[in-house]
Amino acid sequence: MPSLPALLRSLGLSLFALVLAGLAPQAGAQEFDLVLRGGRVMDPESGLDAVRHVGIQGGVIRAISEQPLNGRTIVEAGGLVVAPGFIDLHQHAQLPEDYRLKAQDGVTTVAELEVGSADVDAWYAAREGKTTINYAVSVGHIPSRMAVMGDRPEFLPGAKSGAATRIATDEEMAKIAALIEKGLQRGAVAVGFGLQYTPTATQRETVEMFRVAAKYNAPCHLHMRAKGGTGLQNVYSAVLEIIAASTITGAPAHICHVQSTALRLTPRVMQLISEAHARRVDITAECYPYTAGMTDIKSAIFDPGWRENGEMDYKDLQWPSTGERLTAETFEKYRQTGGLVIIHSNPEEVIRDIVAHPLTMIGSDGLRGHPRHAGTSARILGHYARELKVISLMQALDKLALMPAKRLENRVPMLRNKGRVRVGADADLVLFNPDTVTDRATYTQPDLPSEGIPHVLVGGVFVVRDGKFQPGVSPGKAVRAPIQGPR
Ligand SMILES: [Zn+2]
Repeated sequence: MPSLPALLRSLGLSLFALVLAGLAPQAGAQEFDLVLRGGRVMDPESGLDAVRHVGIQGGVIRAISEQPLNGRTIVEAGGLVVAPGFIDLHQHAQLPEDYRLKAQDGVTTVAELEVGSADVDAWYAAREGKTTINYAVSVGHIPSRMAVMGDRPEFLPGAKSGAATRIATDEEMAKIAALIEKGLQRGAVAVGFGLQYTPTATQRETVEMFRVAAKYNAPCHLHMRAKGGTGLQNVYSAVLEIIAASTITGAPAHICHVQSTALRLTPRVMQLISEAHARRVDITAECYPYTAGMTDIKSAIFDPGWRENGEMDYKDLQWPSTGERLTAETFEKYRQTGGLVIIHSNPEEVIRDIVAHPLTMIGSDGLRGHPRHAGTSARILGHYARELKVISLMQALDKLALMPAKRLENRVPMLRNKGRVRVGADADLVLFNPDTVTDRATYTQPDLPSEGIPHVLVGGVFVVRDGKFQPGVSPGKAVRAPIQGPR
């Protein structure tokens, strides 16, 4: 009996032709809404890194093919990487103008998880149908604690606020926990904490809040306490508190911007996190790729002792509007008036190591006034992957898109269709030139958009096309956990 190839040869057909015959009509028959033609498709989940044609229909990736596809709109993607849209788990500024800068940096989903909101319904309702990119929020321990402690609503509690200065009574702690539970029932994707901003929240309070998070399978995203490396309260006790709370309660933990809290001690902190992770504690971390941080000069971070604890001095602080480095005198002046201050706090080696660490993903901590707001993704792709080669391009995509999706997807199943380039996934895609992609935002010009990212799609809709932001389109959708309780 002849083999199949021999039989085909006798019929004048090759196996290759048969395969083509099987695929071509199917591919040729369908006309997609949009086809991305001949780009270098990179998917951090499957490892696919090859030239492919991508067919998009109804906001979903419907074909990833070696064969040409028909589309009502065709975009030539030759020379461009076609990657999953970036998911930024740490984005504070959430206005339309902010979404424009994020989109131009390849971000298709932003999440405010560290500070979060005390009113999850109102937060989502304010954005519904109006946004360029997708959006998510945590229920925040900070705003919940401020509400219970009777502080007026502000982004962060001032150093003299009740939330920053008072230990909660049992009754108050129960009220904070109830607000967090309510937020989780209303679909908050995580629980946010800023323990350095609420230094009077006790370790018992942390564990109580983790218990609520665990009940809803919600990860806890924390700006941990920081008191340097000496003394009894220090950055080690800060990490141990989080590892213990996660181990005791089972709630996953995620340490926000580990490098801007742990500073030069970041490698030692990552050792603790890695060892706990190896013992099956569900803990991860996040960093942003800049040597300076930024926060409110009025916050508890600058309470007496900050210079010793952070191994910093006044000269390491820079006032954004004037560019001046601070002195003891100007520090006191601005501490009275308040406002965001740039903190030059990390050597470049710390940033290289933390960007490359296998347990860290990239979160921008995006805030107006700091270049991380507009430039984080492009800086990872251009500076850290292409120029310094501390990570591969695929690792960069993993840290920018897939790892953030996986961090939340047990709680938020819709994220299983983001962070990937796969048939059936949402068509949230970024097309960038790997040879030219670069950040342009600086400490003095923080709002310059990134370059080398010609196309960005959210749900199959262009929000950036041919390098231009597309005004007047609002394809962004709520990324939200299933709702489990009444308003
Ligand atoms: Zn923070």
